[in-house]
This record gives sequence, structure tokens and C-alpha cells, in this order.
Amino acid sequence: MARNITALLLGALTSSIVVTILLYYEARDGSVLFSYNGQTLTLFRFLAWIPIGPVLAGLAGSTGYLLGALLLRLRPATLALFAVVAIAAGLVYVAQSAEFALYMVGWPQPNGGPTKNMRTFGKFMRTSVANSPLHLWSSGYDSSEDEEVTSFFSPQKSSSAAQLGHSGDSRVDGLGGGVSGVMSSQDMSQTGAGKQLSALGQWFESFKARLHANSGEWFTMGMQIAGFATGGLLVMFYLRRCPYCKSCMLLLARKGTRTRYYSRIRDMRVAVDLVLVKARDKQLQLAIDAHVARGADHDGNWSEYCSTVEVRRCVQCRLHMLRFRTRRKQDEQWKDIDPLGYTATSQEQLDCA
Ligand SMILES: [Zn+2]
Repeated sequence: MARNITALLLGALTSSIVVTILLYYEARDGSVLFSYNGQTLTLFRFLAWIPIGPVLAGLAGSTGYLLGALLLRLRPATLALFAVVAIAAGLVYVAQSAEFALYMVGWPQPNGGPTKNMRTFGKFMRTSVANSPLHLWSSGYDSSEDEEVTSFFSPQKSSSAAQLGHSGDSRVDGLGGGVSGVMSSQDMSQTGAGKQLSALGQWFESFKARLHANSGEWFTMGMQIAGFATGGLLVMFYLRRCPYCKSCMLLLARKGTRTRYYSRIRDMRVAVDLVLVKARDKQLQLAIDAHVARGADHDGNWSEYCSTVEVRRCVQCRLHMLRFRTRRKQDEQWKDIDPLGYTATSQEQLDCA
């Protein structure tokens, strides 16, 4: 469990870093990065609904899951799959909130985004996330419920605008932007709180209608979550296919591997029979020893067949695993001969000779 959580936290960390970097560059340059999808690629119409940005961000972020699991030899629990989706949902929510807030302060701006300053950016992120559920329930900025929404948004809007107003040309705005950000957010908490509370009642009344009106937002959100989770899920599915110890629930570590090469099918057959007879008789170490005595130890133009013995072990208990497979050369590529494979586990120590 602790390993699962550690690996998930590492994945969540790398994913968050990727999202933060993307959002920072969005805020700096005013270009859409996270929410980028295929709609701008007129030549590739079929990509129109693919959330390209989230997919790429998720792939980059999933390195944390992979690294964490491999370091800990973790075979991810089924629950980890849900955790990956939940983490993706959380980060998409943060990213969309930030992008929506950027939109409201007039992004993208022709002379660069709202801020280049890290502190202002941090403050902006907190503000936009804290005030964010709005855009999933409200009907948006240009439809029938405009007036109500505008009044609802106004405290946040004015503060964000003030906070991020120092855009564009000035490089000296760093400190000033940060300070005015603090000032205006304090202002907001004093004057805006009452307004927000009363608006909350109104907001709740039309909750259902808005939910319906915002199905587009939900669709985008769902697509982005699915896209973002893809990388992490691929990592999890890959890890769950790796050989593991059932009692420790840990991935097995590779201890050694030997491959022998044969020019004729008859030679290969004889070697495979020797190995399989001993292996099926539970004499796994003898099978390994018999294997290295046959065929040649290097690949060449002449080789048409090969067989490989791989030994793995659990890093925690005594479990060893022997995996034997046979391959044939086809169009310069090695293809598995499935019926001539074998896998067995043992509590006794195995070594590649
Ligand atoms: Zn074990």
C-alpha cells in the first residue's frame, strides 16, 4: 500500500509539474498549450476532437508513475487505475480553471500574456482555482444568463484583472505585480465576500439548468481527463503485465538471461526438448544448464532459430521464475514460436550458468 501511494504521489508530482509549466507559459505568452486540440489542424480534420494537449501532458507526466513503480518494484493495485484517473481529473480541473481565468482577464493578449512574474503567477493560480467551479455550472459569458453570471464573476474578475493587469511591456512589474496582487486579493475578501454569498443562492437555484446548459464544458472536460489519464493508464497496464511475485505483489527483478542460436530446426528441436523435459520435471536448474550446452552463443547470418532462458527473482522473498522462449528469424526479425515456450516458478535458487 505504501509503495502504491508513493508511486502515485510521484506520478501526481510529475504531472503537476508538467501542468504548471504549461500554464506558466500560457500566462506568459498567451498561447493555448494545455487545452490544445486538433481543431486548428485544418488538414487533419479527424483530429478535431482529440485533446492533443492533455494527451501529451499526461504522457510527460506519467514518467513519474513509471519511475516510481520501477524503483519500488511495484505491481500497481487495481485501485491505482482509479487514482490515476482521479489525479488526471484534478489537474484538468486546475488547468481549465486557470485557462478560464486567463480568458476572463483578456487572454490571449497581443503583447504577451498577463504575467511573466512567478509570484504573480502563483497567486493567480490560487485565485483561479479557489474561485473556479463556476465555469462548469454557469452558462458562460455570451449566453442568456449573461447578466447574472457577470455579477457573480465580478469580484473575481476585478481582482484578477488588477492582479494581472501589469502585463506586456514592463519587466519591472515583477515586484509591483506581486504587491498589488496581495492588496487586491485582500480587497476582494473584504468587499466581495458578501456579494459572493448572495450570488451563491441564486447560483444554486439554477444549478440543474446550468448543468444542462454546460454539457459542452463537461464534454471538453471529460475528453481532457480521458486524454490526460491515457499516459498514466498505459504505464499502469504495462506494469500490470510484467511478471510479479503473487505473495509479495512485487515486480520480479531480472537476474540473468542466456540466448542460444541454431542454424537448423533439428538442432533447435533437440535443445528445446532437453530443456522442456527437465523443466516440466521441476528440475529447473538442470534445464538451464542443459540449455547453455546446446547451440551457439552468438547470433550470425547463419542462425535461423534461437532459444532464451530468462531468470527473474523476487526482491523480497525466495521466489525465482524461469521463463523459456523460442524464436524464429522472419524477415530479419525474431518472432516467437508460442507452443515452444515455458514458464515456471520455484522456491529454490536459480542461476544462469
Ligand atoms: Zn516475493
